[in-house]
Parts: sequence; C-alpha cells; structure tokens
Amino acid sequence: MMEKAFEHLEKIYQEMVEIRRDLHMNPELSFKEERTPAFIADYLNKLGIEVRTKVGGNGVVGLLRGGKPGKTIALRADFDALPIEDEKDVDYKSKVPGVMHACGHDIHTAALLGTAKALSSVKDQIPGNVVFIHQHAEELAPGGAVAMVEDGCLDGVDEVYGAHVEVNYPVGQVAVNDGYVQAASDAFDITINGKGGHAAEPHWCVDPLVIGSHLVVDLQHIVSRRIDPLQPALLTVGAFNSGDAHNVIPDKAYIKGTVRTYDKEVRVQMENELKLIAQKTAEKYRASIDVEYSKGFISLYNHPKETQYIKELAQEIVGEENVVRKPADMGGEDFAYYVDAIPGSFFWVGGGNPAIDAIYPHHHPKFDVDEKSMLITGKIFIAAVFKNQ
Ligand SMILES: [Zn+2]
Ligand SMILES: [Zn+2]
Repeated sequence: MMEKAFEHLEKIYQEMVEIRRDLHMNPELSFKEERTPAFIADYLNKLGIEVRTKVGGNGVVGLLRGGKPGKTIALRADFDALPIEDEKDVDYKSKVPGVMHACGHDIHTAALLGTAKALSSVKDQIPGNVVFIHQHAEELAPGGAVAMVEDGCLDGVDEVYGAHVEVNYPVGQVAVNDGYVQAASDAFDITINGKGGHAAEPHWCVDPLVIGSHLVVDLQHIVSRRIDPLQPALLTVGAFNSGDAHNVIPDKAYIKGTVRTYDKEVRVQMENELKLIAQKTAEKYRASIDVEYSKGFISLYNHPKETQYIKELAQEIVGEENVVRKPADMGGEDFAYYVDAIPGSFFWVGGGNPAIDAIYPHHHPKFDVDEKSMLITGKIFIAAVFKNQ
C-alpha cells in the first residue's frame, strides 16, 4: 500500500510543482499569512481531511483518519516567506515586492500537500491517523510553533516529523542527525546610562563609551571562562552605538547581541552571567545599566530512536550512500517546540542543483531549489506513516 501511495505521489508531481510555484509567486511574511493558509485549508478540505484553521494564529491542522489501528503521526511544514527582494530570472518569480520564499517553505508546503493527497488515496489502508501541521511564522520569533503546540496541534499525536530542504546538499541526498542539532537563540539589548558632557572635562562625566568598551570585552569572558568547554555556547555583540561628535562625551551607550546555546541549564547560566557582568561593570564605573534579555526559540533536540527510524526509511528511499550526517550548528528552527513536547525528528532533504542554478544559500535573493526534492520529502513522510508500528 505504501508503494501505491508512492506511485500516486509521482503521478501528482506536476501538480505539486504548480502549487509550489503559485506559492512562490505569492509569498507572505511571518504572522501576516492569509492567502496561504486559506489555500491550504481549501486543498485539505477537498481531500476530505478534517481541517482546523487559525490554530495558534494563522496555522492550519489537518487530520486524516486511517482505516487500520496504529499510532498517530504528525507531519509538519512551515509556510511563511522573508522580507527579501526576489532577484531570480524565472517565470515563477515573486509577484510581491520585497517579499520572497527564500528559505524553501513553499517547497515544504507543496510537498506536505502532495503527501496529504497521496495518503488520502489509500486512506483505508493507513495504520493509525495522520496529522498535517501547516505552520505559520517560522522565520520570526516567537515563531508559530509554540502557539500551535499550546493550541493543541499535538493532542493525541505519538510522534512528529518535519523536513527542511537544504541547498547545501545535492538533490537526492538526505541528511540526519540526533541529539542537539540547532541552538536556542536569545537576544540582549543593553543601555548604559552615563553622564554626558564636554570631552575635555571627563572628570565631571560618566563616560558610557569607555564603560561599554569594557563590557564588550568582558562579555567574551562568559563563554571562554564560565561555561563548561564541552557545552556549545556563543555570545556575539552585533551592535555598539554611542555618541556622534569629536568633543562630546555622550549620555548613553547601546549594545545589542545574540546568545546561542544547546543545553537548557547553560542557557540559563549565560543569561545570569551576562546580567551579572553588565551590572557589576556599570557599578564599578558609577553608571547605571538596563539589560533586556529576550528569549527566542529553544534548542532543537532530535530524539535518537525517531532519528534512527527516519535514517532507515531514507536509506530505503534514496540508498544508503545518499544518507549523510548533518553537523549540528548554532542556527535556530522552531520545530524545536514539537520535539520538546513529544518524540520526533527533523531532517534535511537535499535541494541543490547547479544545472538549474540552485546554488545560492538560504535567505539569498537568488535562492532556488530543485523541486524534485519534494518527492523525496513526500516519500519519507509516507513511509513514516506506513511503517509506524
Ligand atoms: Zn529560513
Ligand atoms: Zn526555513
């Protein structure tokens, strides 16, 4: 029966391409999606799938009840685009100025809709149920996943799987990895409140520029001296702004940056150390300081058993030599919230192909991917549903 679903998927490939290109021409920004979720809901409805809209915001969740007993498997695709001008020279180029599907979420959506159609055609033979999670707003914190989970998109679900097309791997390859694979991503905004005045009278001022300079250097002490060297952690100051004249000591200095971690306790430690150093540095030099620490996505932890499951399914579909290990990195992905709640795994499907100019990195104005990757994603999803015992 799985083979039949595979055949069906192959048969509707052209339709998936059309859906992908339609989405590509009509991209919508995170938290502002309207047309895309409406299209998804309509498509799933026509397949006879039970649909819930406005899940945790603009999310859409479909439920397909299989004819045989088994687990409930959730499959997730995100559907938001980015504030980037599309610079590709193709006939499916974005029609919305300054907005573009530059991460492949159009590909994810079309692949999952194709999967839903192929699975619907063999519905009576499906063991258990399938939940289709079409998620809004992956690109912008706090992301759509956390609200969709709170709104019950995982209720009754046993395992969850998601895929990201990855242009750094050629089409035909699949990349997997277990454990922590992407980082928790937090942001900080620091204001140093000094006392401005004449540059020639520093003794009557509290110079926030000098204090800020100490602080930028001292913050690097956290990762190198305070965090267990076997725990990945990163702190980058991305902005340091103050003053704009040769002969003036400014009143305030502003510092902002990002903190990335894997481990939950290390994440808390980074925040505490940052606040302590900021406070003590300001105190030492007689300034006051405001620290705003904003939490972004949690880190993405791929469950070992479920990752092994995906690895084996992928090996059957693309061949053992085409399944590779994806190194962990410090990027963020809000699929993290699903696998924080229940077992599951997130994997990467190669979409690179120099022959069609699919060579530019994600979030690049010329980003494109090989659409054939949708068939591989779809087949792994279908296999994950059929072999769920
Ligand atoms: Zn992205
Ligand atoms: Zn993405």
